[in-house]
Amino acid sequence: MRKRPPAEPYRIKSVEPIKLLVPEERLYRLRQANYNVFKLDGSDIYLDLLTDSGTGAMSARQWAALMLGDETYAGARSFRNFEKTVKEIFGKRFLLPCHQGRSAENMVFSTVLKKGQYVLNNTHFDTTRGNTLHKGGIPVDLPCPEADSEESIPFKGNMDVVKLEAFIREHTPEQIAMVIMTITNNSVGGQPVSMSNIHEVSRICRYYRIPFFFDCARFAENAFFIKRDEPGYQNKSIAEITTEMFACCDGAMMSAKKDGLANIGGFIILDDEELFGKLTEMLILIEGFPTYGGLAGRDLEVLSVGLKEVMDYDYLDFRIDQVKYFGEKIKEAGIPIVEPTGGHAVFCDAGQLLPHIPPEQFPGQSLTAAFYVEGGVRVVEIGSLMFGGVDPNTGEKMTARRELVRMALPRRVFTNSHLDYIAATAERIVARKESLRGFEITREPVFLRHFTCDLKALNSESVMVDG
Ligand SMILES: *Cc1c(COP(=O)(O)O)cnc(C)c1O
Repeated sequence: MRKRPPAEPYRIKSVEPIKLLVPEERLYRLRQANYNVFKLDGSDIYLDLLTDSGTGAMSARQWAALMLGDETYAGARSFRNFEKTVKEIFGKRFLLPCHQGRSAENMVFSTVLKKGQYVLNNTHFDTTRGNTLHKGGIPVDLPCPEADSEESIPFKGNMDVVKLEAFIREHTPEQIAMVIMTITNNSVGGQPVSMSNIHEVSRICRYYRIPFFFDCARFAENAFFIKRDEPGYQNKSIAEITTEMFACCDGAMMSAKKDGLANIGGFIILDDEELFGKLTEMLILIEGFPTYGGLAGRDLEVLSVGLKEVMDYDYLDFRIDQVKYFGEKIKEAGIPIVEPTGGHAVFCDAGQLLPHIPPEQFPGQSLTAAFYVEGGVRVVEIGSLMFGGVDPNTGEKMTARRELVRMALPRRVFTNSHLDYIAATAERIVARKESLRGFEITREPVFLRHFTCDLKALNSESVMVDG
């Protein structure tokens, strides 16, 4: 019998038209954007898999909650609702709302980080790395050894606890500002972190008295993987698993544009009252009064609903299954992917697909350009274009660990037909992969260069299209 495809535990109530431009027009738009897909307009794109951040669809319940937003400047009812929800789910004493994840990072690093201090992370996400460097810190990635393995094993997002403890022993506690666990681990392929790894890292941090924070944009997806794949958690609810996870950390920074199921939002949670006081001063300086933090009351209402909806088992089961389905289709089309598929995206291994393009010519960017020209699909390079360049502190040249391309799935947005279309596009690209060529950067900023740099195609064939 035919395997049933994953099917949505919701139905469509409202639709938004999207349009595929003709091939010549797509090529023209990409050239106008200096081959940087971040510079394309949304209207140039048919299916946008650039990010799962703030691109999800709200539920009927969230749209209804929007109308209940209380826009009172100080002490709004919407904030009290939000505060109650966040405390119920995460159990920390203090909450600071902010407009997105990176403003949480900015506030935390501006407050706790002293120049030259290390920040240890299973793997820094690009904005976390950027904010650490910007405040004079030194980001250190400690992914587990399995993170780079080709084998499909669970919990590749884990931190290397042996290396963590060795690093702490080789330094004084004052040299380390904090340890961060990114859940799920975005930069190694949206791979989850196991509960046992969280417990071990927590134990080490407590022993050496180093603050332990989560970068928890995808906490619910991570909790789902623990429930599904970690022995002993099958009979625990997503809520129970979340409670156990957050009992291990001192605080967390959240981009609620992911597992908040909202288009904007973020927050910091923590137990330390003194640090809360300092962060509150910073919040008022750069985001807003502590009961709205750069958000409208209606955004807070939407988040209160979204944070509960995201923990629904059926929703998570479908979400993770759809990513897996998509990954299988891309693999069948002939593009090697990171396995197992993680929580929010399929990561193509462009280095493996295009061995004739060296890392310094950005094979991931070639594949990214090809997806747009071939099918109007926007994906994003997560390789040497994003993580390479010169370290602003040391002047050293950095390279990516792998030349990946991320195809992120917005939450509750695309149907399986959309994903089948992208897989068919992938097949066409694979058929002419030898013709793809690399790129060269012609202009770049110091921080987060991939967002705004200009590129030059090293050969017009780089982006050839065949109708
Ligand atoms: C998205 C993300 C951030 C940054 O959040 P924004 O809301 O985009 O500012 C930080 N860390 C991780 C792991 C993320 O996925």
